[in-house]
Amino acid sequence: MERDASCHCGKLILRCRGEPAKVSLCHCMDCQRRTGSLFSVAAFFPRSDVALVAGAAECFRRPSASGFDVAFHFCPTCGSSLWWEPDRLPHLVGVAAGAFADPGFPMPEQAVWCDDRHPWLELPAAIAAHARNPAQTALSE
Ligand SMILES: [Zn+2]
Ligand SMILES: [Zn+2]
Repeated sequence: MERDASCHCGKLILRCRGEPAKVSLCHCMDCQRRTGSLFSVAAFFPRSDVALVAGAAECFRRPSASGFDVAFHFCPTCGSSLWWEPDRLPHLVGVAAGAFADPGFPMPEQAVWCDDRHPWLELPAAIAAHARNPAQTALSE
């Protein structure tokens, strides 16, 4: 299966092959500021299963709460962050789950940085909630 993730204006298209290795929801303040929403959802794919098929991205790099940098790739026209590359997980690429614009996209299996969750925001019990980011299974950002 192939899925295309696209930025807001449609110039940047990332093609992802197969199923995501992991889908992770993050409540951290950095994700809140980046998205303008209250959490982000990342679909992690093996680097070899992801290809940019249209457009050229710009990059913003910042340190993350894990202590490693994350490089965010965004559309220079519309500003959407389409994918990110955590230095901590060099074999994986995080893709903005909303960029697939597919309500049937797989549900996150975990939520991290729940310490920063807005209290009215209830998640399904099937999503494993972590107060911070569990180091041993850390796949967020
Ligand atoms: Zn765009
Ligand atoms: Zn986050």
